[in-house]
Amino acid sequence: MLSIMHTVAESTGVFPSVRDVAARVEAGERITREDAAVLWNEATDEELRYLARQVRDRFHEPDRATYMIMRIINYTNVCVAQCDYCAFYVLPNRPGGYVLSHEEVFAKIEELLAVDGDLVGFNGGFNPKLSLDYYCDLFAAVRERYGNRVEFYALTVAEFMFLADRANLSYRDAAERLREAGVYWITGGGSEILTEDFRSRHAKFKYTVREYFEAQEAIVETGLRTTATMVIGFDETLDERLEHLERTRDFQDRTGGLFSFLCWSYMPWGTPLGGEPISPLEYLRHLALARIFLDNVRHIRTSVLTANENAFQGLEYGADDFDLPIEDEVTQKAGARIDLNLERLLAIPREMGYRVEYRHPERPAGLAGAA
Ligand code: SF4
Repeated sequence: MLSIMHTVAESTGVFPSVRDVAARVEAGERITREDAAVLWNEATDEELRYLARQVRDRFHEPDRATYMIMRIINYTNVCVAQCDYCAFYVLPNRPGGYVLSHEEVFAKIEELLAVDGDLVGFNGGFNPKLSLDYYCDLFAAVRERYGNRVEFYALTVAEFMFLADRANLSYRDAAERLREAGVYWITGGGSEILTEDFRSRHAKFKYTVREYFEAQEAIVETGLRTTATMVIGFDETLDERLEHLERTRDFQDRTGGLFSFLCWSYMPWGTPLGGEPISPLEYLRHLALARIFLDNVRHIRTSVLTANENAFQGLEYGADDFDLPIEDEVTQKAGARIDLNLERLLAIPREMGYRVEYRHPERPAGLAGAA
């Protein structure tokens, strides 16, 4: 952070003040990384919250929030990437590794339907034994069996890159194969912090930032839908957080392909990296900063999975949308606690004064019930 402030001071001779930056935000102007650093370091919680609400209100009705009921289906926990912040993976040929059968996947989807959910996120590891055919068969089977009753996020960008490389296909060709199998969404997961330094410190087998965006651009060009994600609370610097946000905003300027931005916080329990979780307030301040900075992303999503009840405060800090998850082994293994009393959870934003409405996932054209 100091380095950013020094750069600004050296080039202009003055530091921008919170008041200067706030005036630009209120005028609808885009802010710079330096401006964002000023807000992070010097704005009060109330100032950040107020500015985030100003930007939120340009996109959404002030008292309306949307949500989905979903489950992550962790189809395999076998992974060779060895990220040091992960408590989920098992190396190949070690005890405890698994791959779910189609029947096990279907049983999990039935449980989701039973609680009126209609979104599945498939998320596993870099499993070298799974071929492109495995994924195409699985996704085609889900599409055939459930049609428009459920929508699914097929993979994260990071898993997609691994399967494309394993199949020796370009990202465009791999995305096309998945699209033919019925895939409509590949989410921006596996991004964590998108700086090359962060990845070399913690996830050196998980692709570079440049490769990540190449793959995501191919996904957009193929006509698939995608999202942006971010995880905070490792050892990343403020500068790294802002670089991640700026790369995300640049990608959206270039492609327009990001449906939403979801940020959650690192859960440290059981991971090789360890550490302590960030405070609930730090998470909220970051959500607000993201809403202010990402002036070209319509939906900012707050994470009930990792922030629990505090996530609803995120609606006051710029978010407009959230999931109610019923399962995610990756974060649960690292300490996430899932509350299955969905009505109790929904009562919280309602008591805060929000009109809370279910948002059905966007579906491919041609499937009835698209929303
Ligand atoms: S975070 Fe994902 S890619 Fe990294 S080790 Fe865990 S399962 Fe593998």
